[in-house]
Amino acid sequence: MNYIAEQYQAVKSALPSDITLVAVSKTHSTDKIRQVYDLGQRIFAENKVQELVEKAPLLPKDIQWHLIGHLQTNKVKYIADFVDTIQSVDSEKLLSEINKHAGKHQRIIKVLLQVKIAEEDTKSGMEISETKELFLKWLQGSFPNVKIMGLMGMATFTDDEAQIEREFRFLKRLYDQLSLQHPLSVLSMGMSGDYPLAIACGANSVRIGSAIFGNRL
Ligand SMILES: *Cc1c(COP(=O)(O)O)cnc(C)c1O
Repeated sequence: MNYIAEQYQAVKSALPSDITLVAVSKTHSTDKIRQVYDLGQRIFAENKVQELVEKAPLLPKDIQWHLIGHLQTNKVKYIADFVDTIQSVDSEKLLSEINKHAGKHQRIIKVLLQVKIAEEDTKSGMEISETKELFLKWLQGSFPNVKIMGLMGMATFTDDEAQIEREFRFLKRLYDQLSLQHPLSVLSMGMSGDYPLAIACGANSVRIGSAIFGNRL
């Protein structure tokens, strides 16, 4: 087995079977993505629209593509006909735009609301209050062509495990709260460096790049 196959199998076998693995393929070639696809992986994620629209047509049609990076409203139209899930919804304006373009293609696009959980300022996502308000508007029927599946969050980039754990538990609490109003199914948190902790804190979907594909150049 080559490096990527070994890494993929190692990650896959360490994951409990009820945890969804989202393979983060940003910066990596379609050849490498194809190798992981051939091992059975079907969910891949990119963080840039341009890279996603370049790669997707070169790869099998049954890949479920997730977008995990900040999405500008004027770029929604480029991915609306094929993207499976947009994990990085961070404003009402964006949700509304996704809803509009999904409607044009007579689709329902799955989304996650991205919540700011990191204590550091640089990480994006909505504050709790904004998240709750947007969820309520969706529940009231404002955006019929999107389906909110759950929440996504990124912890602070730090060695302080206690801080990361606080941030993950914070998001899990919000997820449980919102689930009382409407059943949610996806809590996306955890990356290569922190996914075991994220799972311990209640994540059921993890976004793993470098632990599978190696370091990005
Ligand atoms: C790049 C990225 C990941 C994956 O990071 P790794 O550390 O390579 O596993 C996960 N989530 C988001 C939002 C990313 O941008």
